[in-house]
Amino acid sequence: MTQVSGSWRRAAAGARLLGADGEVASTIFAEMSALAARTGALNLGQGFPDEDGPEEVLEAAREAIAAGRNQYPPGRGDPDLLQAIAEHQRRFYGIEVDPGSEAIVTAGATEALTATLLALLDGPDDEVVVFEPFYDAYAAAVGLAGARLVPVRLRWPDFQPDLDELDRAVTDRTRIILVNDPHNPTGAVFSAGVRERIVELADRHGAIIVTDEVYEHLSLDEPHVPIASLDGAAQRTVTISSGGKTFRTTGWKVGWVTAPQDLVTAVLTVKQYLTYSGGAPFQPAIARGLRLSDAFFSGLAGDMRAKRDLLGTGLRAAGFDVSRPAGSYFTVADASPLGADDAAQLCRELPDRAGVVAVPLSAFVTEEHAREYRSLVRFAACKRREMLEEAAARLATLSA
Ligand code: PMP
Ligand code: GLN
Repeated sequence: MTQVSGSWRRAAAGARLLGADGEVASTIFAEMSALAARTGALNLGQGFPDEDGPEEVLEAAREAIAAGRNQYPPGRGDPDLLQAIAEHQRRFYGIEVDPGSEAIVTAGATEALTATLLALLDGPDDEVVVFEPFYDAYAAAVGLAGARLVPVRLRWPDFQPDLDELDRAVTDRTRIILVNDPHNPTGAVFSAGVRERIVELADRHGAIIVTDEVYEHLSLDEPHVPIASLDGAAQRTVTISSGGKTFRTTGWKVGWVTAPQDLVTAVLTVKQYLTYSGGAPFQPAIARGLRLSDAFFSGLAGDMRAKRDLLGTGLRAAGFDVSRPAGSYFTVADASPLGADDAAQLCRELPDRAGVVAVPLSAFVTEEHAREYRSLVRFAACKRREMLEEAAARLATLSA
């Protein structure tokens, strides 16, 4: 137990990691990976790939280290990576970004999100509308900023928000509508109607839209549509992404922000005092990645589509009800047909019962709504085929 006072408590409490005894838990991802390591279970918990990404990208990082690119890169980011980000936004989405003033590089999407939320929120009167379940870092950063989280629920099995609930959530107190699309942990891809309503509401109430698009190249059934590409959206949208998922380099932590100049300046002001800059040799490597051929990007989505289907089939055969994710690394399954109404309990037992690790959805929701997600489990499909097949075989023993 620690008695140290400070805003760390708000971060931990925001992410529901602060116990009644003042003890701080580790994140659900770290906890589940440690459980997998301890038990030797297959780790379908933490969302990281178990294979390397494209060789050209890895080689570019080696070349950059050998060429001495080992000192601080510019605070805004390597100019060639900024250029590659602008090219990427034009090539895939027709969005024009000025690389000199409308983009910055960050230490992963996590720093981009934290810097953006800290930069744009100004205390307890500011509200952030967020789609629940949500990635744990959102609540922690909103907590650090001392602002208020307003959750809009995504409900099993399609996880699209109810538009009336969304209308009620966004008010003149809303400073930010935070959108993660494709969505972790549900795998949802928002419908065109939902995207349009978000822009309409932001416009009506003077809110800023912050998008987390780290799974942009893992939209599995249709091309990804960034909110910034919608009519009237660009001037009020901060778009965040990262190379981690796209190039299977989650440990490199190269992310970026694109937004109108005044918003980028605000985010950069905070970002420069968080890390200033980082990842010097990885920045040119991610620039190489962003310029890879269309075949690479479609191959990535095709590979994940096949893995989603494989995992879904395995989970259904094991007796779960399974949602059909349209994007991301993840599939959500309902464990109640197996007689397991408490997914948190099931996830603690799963390594012993079946040699598999997964994450309960209750880790991504507010206390208030935890019951609604109680029997749901998130499985990560970003693993080798053999591993998914083995996991399916092991899970089949659950209902045997
Ligand atoms: N947002 C979402 C929705 C994520 O799932 C993740 C992590 N995997 C991140 C942000 C963090 O991205 P990064 O590793 O680039 O910081
Ligand atoms: N984004 C990854 C997931 O959702 C984990 C990242 C982390 O460990 N913080 O599993």
